[in-house]
Order: sequence, then C-alpha cells, then structure tokens
Amino acid sequence: MKRIGSIKIFAAAALLLCLAFIQSCQAAAQAQKRTVTFFNYFDTVITITAYGADKNEFDLAAAAADDAFSQYHRLFDIYNRYDSLTNIASVNQAAGQTVEVSSDIIALIEFGKQAYDVTDGAVNIAMGAVLRLWHDCRTAAQSDPAAASVPLEEELLAASAHCDISLVEADAQNNTVTLADPMMSLDVGAIAKGFACERVAELLRAYNGSYMLNCGGAVRTLSAKLDGTPWVAGIVDPLADDSQSYAARVAMMDSALSTSGSYIRYFTVDGVEYGHIIDPKTLQPARGHASVSVLCADATLADCLSTACFILSADEALQLIESIDGAEMLLIQNDGTIIKTEGFPLNQS
Ligand code: AMP
Ligand code: MG
Repeated sequence: MKRIGSIKIFAAAALLLCLAFIQSCQAAAQAQKRTVTFFNYFDTVITITAYGADKNEFDLAAAAADDAFSQYHRLFDIYNRYDSLTNIASVNQAAGQTVEVSSDIIALIEFGKQAYDVTDGAVNIAMGAVLRLWHDCRTAAQSDPAAASVPLEEELLAASAHCDISLVEADAQNNTVTLADPMMSLDVGAIAKGFACERVAELLRAYNGSYMLNCGGAVRTLSAKLDGTPWVAGIVDPLADDSQSYAARVAMMDSALSTSGSYIRYFTVDGVEYGHIIDPKTLQPARGHASVSVLCADATLADCLSTACFILSADEALQLIESIDGAEMLLIQNDGTIIKTEGFPLNQS
C-alpha cells in the first residue's frame, strides 16, 4: 500500500512538473517577439511586430499582409501602370474619360474628397498637376544635385488651374471614376499609405497575437501588448542629423499615429531645402513646422490630418484637431519647441 501511495505521489509530481514545463513553453512562445520587414511598398520600410503568435500563425499573418500591401501599392501607384490592373495611374492617364475601377479605389477617392472638406482644402488629392512639377524637380535633383532647380512660377500657376476636386467624380454604384478636367491628375500620396496600413491592420485582427505595424511615417497598433501594457512608438527628432534620435515617445493601445515632415523627403537648390508637402495656397513647400504627428483611431484619418496640420499654422492645426473626436496632435516647431494637445499620451519612461 505504502509503495503504491509513493508511486502515486511520484506520478502526480511528474505530471505537475510536465504541466508546468508545457505552460512555461507556452508562455515563452507567447512572449516571443516576431517581426517581418517589407522593403518594396510605398517607397518606405514596413515592419510588422507581434507578440503571442506562434511561428506558423505569424508566418500566415505576414504572408497575408505582404499580399495586401503589394496589392495596395500597385493599386494606388500614381505614375506606373501594371499588367491587367486598373490603378490610379490608369485613372490619371484616362483623364477626361470614365474608367471602371475597384471598390478600393472608389473608397480611397471618397476619403480624399472628405479630406478636402475636413481640412478646408489643405489636403487636395486632385493637386496632381502641381505636385508632379515638384516631384519631377525632386527626382531630377536626386540624379543630378548640381543641376537642381525648382518649378517655374508660371508653370505652377498654370497647373493650379487643374486642381478642382469637385471635378473628380467617383460613382460607387457603378465603380467608375471620371476626372472631368482632362488636364487634371490625382496624387494620393497624403493618404494612401495610411489607408493601406488601416486595411492591413483590420486583416491582422483575424490572427492570434498582438500586432504593431510600422509603415514609415504611419504606425498602427491593434491592442495593448500581451501583458496589457501599451506599445511605445518613437517620434523621430526632425531636427537631429540621424533618424535614430527620438523627440518623444507615444503610448499606443488600439490606435494610429502618423507623422508628416519635410525632413522625410526633400531636395536642395542653392542651399535651400524644398520639402514634399505643398501648400495649395502658395504652391510652394510648407515650411511652418519641423514635423507634426497625429494620433487617432484610424490610420487613414491620421495620415490625412498629419499632412494637413503640417501645412496649416499651429493655431489652425490645433483648431482642426480639437474639432475631431479622439484626435491628438504633437507639433514640433522649427526651433524644436513642442506644441501638443492636452490628451496627447506622451510616454515618460
Ligand atoms: P505625407 O507624407 O502623408 O504627409 O504626404 C505627403 C505626400 O502627399 C507628398 O509626397 C505628395 O505626394 C502629397 N501631397 C503633398 N502636398 C499635398 C497637399 N497639399 N494635398 C494633397 N497631397 C499632397
Ligand atoms: Mg499624410
């Protein structure tokens, strides 16, 4: 009897040890950080980080994200066409005619029209004619910096006559788009990355784990980290010489953070820097701030608002953000001073 009792105790102890071992293995797998990086989309580096997904699950999530980013990248490309795909470049090429497009393009254009209204015209996706002139000078400057030049004033003025967003007709019933001005073109650079990031984030909700997407200037988190603590995203110091110094750290749970700044993309002519965000009122690069970051619930909206606030004055930007439920802003002035909305969740640690 005694022996049987000790065997039982031994067996129970072994079982407990086994269970503890399995549990600690599971905990280790849960705590394991997994990352994947894509280099080919939206002219930026995209990183997905996850906790709590086993290797198999994470590989599936990463493959789905890869497919989706690849599709949105081609769909929202404004300059390049792809075989058997009608994308924004197709719409631009067919300006003056009606083009059948996917529902994703309709959704992006409809958001672009709302963005124009919400930002009082600061973000205008119909400004392709003007933005192309700046884009061409920037790419020419990259290949031959010594010969860098800026667009002529009269070219800019002529192009600005073809930026009337009311002439962009999106028909959601028939999935068609018409640019009613044949000289007009779309530039969705201010919102497309955020839109894609938001769509991919939604898709990742179907997978186990806690995810953070970092798409260049756009960060999207889907929940707190596994232990319930927030993710922490860094806002790059726009005045530092390197891109590794942070001006601020932001606590994020289920939210989106977008940063706009001319330090991200610019070219230099005669010692003057020309950024990639153009003020529709002056047709010149916006210069009022070093960078603007916007935090809200949706990555497309955050993307639109950070571009808008970069163009607006600090007072106008504060007013815009305060008019939007749940949005917060951190603006870094050219002298490094930080202006922020009261609820902006700075992480102090
Ligand atoms: P972001 O990096 O999101 O602030 O967007 C900048 C990009 O948006 C630029 O590279 C242009 O493609 C485009 N863009 C620049 N200025 C404007 C503007 N005023 N309205 C709409 N799009 C713009
Ligand atoms: Mg933007």
